[in-house]
Amino acid sequence: MNENVIETIAAQILKRIGTGRTDKSHPILIEASARHVHLTTDAIETLFGAGAALGKKRDLSQPGEFLAEQRVKIVTPAGELPNVAVLGPLRKNIQVELSATDCRTLRLNPPVNVSGDLRGAADCFIIGDRGVVDAKGSVIIARAHVHLRPEEAEAFGLAGVAAARVEVKSGRPLVFDNIIVRVSENYAPAVHIDFDEANACMLDANSKAFLLAGRASADASSVTAPSAPERRETSPRVYGERLITEASAREIIASLEGDTVFVGRGTIVTPSASDIFSSARKTVRRDRQGE
Ligand SMILES: [Zn+2]
Repeated sequence: MNENVIETIAAQILKRIGTGRTDKSHPILIEASARHVHLTTDAIETLFGAGAALGKKRDLSQPGEFLAEQRVKIVTPAGELPNVAVLGPLRKNIQVELSATDCRTLRLNPPVNVSGDLRGAADCFIIGDRGVVDAKGSVIIARAHVHLRPEEAEAFGLAGVAAARVEVKSGRPLVFDNIIVRVSENYAPAVHIDFDEANACMLDANSKAFLLAGRASADASSVTAPSAPERRETSPRVYGERLITEASAREIIASLEGDTVFVGRGTIVTPSASDIFSSARKTVRRDRQGE
């Protein structure tokens, strides 16, 4: 499912919800967040040039939050995700929110954290029109959560409760357990899940979500990270720059003696650069020194 579809679904669900409530459960807006990044002032200037600021494309459901005009590419040694959304406003720390599926593709092993909690967060590179940011400790899988104002938390029996359950009635109905409850005067009521979760319940325009009263069955802190990705083979170093792109791969091949390209342990070779090397029948090897 893509972003436009989600946008439409969110609007349609919002219309259907109305204000009706039942005794046992409460309909609530549910939105699927696409993979996205939050940037700092420094990062936006590095990525898009000195003096660059976020342009607003459209507002999001939470007051003050918006989708920016800018897009970035997320890169790791194992893969890249083009055209990734940037959300505003700017923050104090860079935060990259990916799905577990994205993390398999990129061979990252980040924790499932509440937004803002970067403990254990994984590393990636962020590429913009004008530059690259080495975003260490920035990647998390965002924990599903519900935004409520204090009066709604009270009405739903969730005041002071860490986590709740959300039932999605859809083509593949599902009850999400252990949904973090976030309460603030500044919120608009909404459940936020990621694309893996949206696809798991086949969220669409006919889907309805209900916030179930009472506690979640699991502890709010008990989340297990996905299994560790495999380590890559490494060997002696020649090209130690931090990023080898398609263009630099062509330059390397032009001056290369032999069929092996030795790269630094931390050097990122983009998948398009890898393709250039393999079509030129060059083997990329990693430096093992310094480990
Ligand atoms: Zn949210």
